[in-house]
Amino acid sequence: MSDVPGIELNNGTTIPQLGFGVFQIDPSDTAESVTTALDIGYRHIDTAQMYGNEAEVGEAIAKSSVPRDELWITTKCNNGNHGYDDSQRALDESLGKLGLDFVDLYLIHWPLPGKALYVDTWKGFEQAYADGKTRAIGVSNFQPHHLDRLKEETSTTPAINQVELHPQLQQAAVLAYDDRHGIATEAWSPIGQGKGLLDSPELAPIAEAHGKSAAQVVLRWHIQIGTIIFPKSVTPERVRENFDIFDFELTADEMETIKGMDRDRRLGPDPDKFER
Ligand code: NAD
Repeated sequence: MSDVPGIELNNGTTIPQLGFGVFQIDPSDTAESVTTALDIGYRHIDTAQMYGNEAEVGEAIAKSSVPRDELWITTKCNNGNHGYDDSQRALDESLGKLGLDFVDLYLIHWPLPGKALYVDTWKGFEQAYADGKTRAIGVSNFQPHHLDRLKEETSTTPAINQVELHPQLQQAAVLAYDDRHGIATEAWSPIGQGKGLLDSPELAPIAEAHGKSAAQVVLRWHIQIGTIIFPKSVTPERVRENFDIFDFELTADEMETIKGMDRDRRLGPDPDKFER
């Protein structure tokens, strides 16, 4: 049995708060990595059309004995597939690759404001949801003003907004907007891609106090602030380590220390400027 909490979304579905992300996992390693994650107990997989490994995620799902209704599978509409028809056609292609009748969550990967198609794309998502091809619909890398446009011009509030979020980029404005509108926030690059963040001097004493790694401390911080996370690793020991975060709790002081690490430091592109 897994201790992973569920987060109830605004349409009544429940997503496991911890999952496994497969960005930058080579297609030749993906089926094995996902199988390892499922064996450890992960039940939520985050992929995307852009990652080029949906078919291999599907291979692992097909081989697994985990019942479909215990899995949460997210994919994302690629930047070349914006538009009412294209976003739906692309989901059909994803379902074919994943070997599924429906996904659990379909996200607009980037808003691409210059293309100005995200409202039409969202209307395509509403149709795909009505057709039962996805159990929830959401967006990724949306800033509050992009979400405002969806609110003004469409009738469905996204269930999820997936944004870059870690201790050095805490996204207070996005989190506040999402909370106010009943949108759950997913944090991509939750451990800051493992690089400088995990060596921050603030984390070492906290990790030592709990007998945990810096990565586990940061993942635990996410669990306690309520963000949904899916750290990526191809190393089985780390995949296991990243799952082992439910037997300790950070104190209010420790949470405050991590809150103080915010640097407004993006690792990825600025959503208002990214157009590819
Ligand atoms: P991450 O923060 O999960 O970091 C992953 C890296 O950290 C690994 O490559 C590894 O080098 C290291 N690592 C993993 N576990 C570790 C551990 N226990 N100890 C030390 N180092 C460890 O970054 P990510 O992969 O960029 O993000 C996670 C997931 O978020 C992706 O796989 C993808 O599913 C999603 N994502 C979405 C978007 C988006 O635009 N929507 C963008 C990037 C990532």
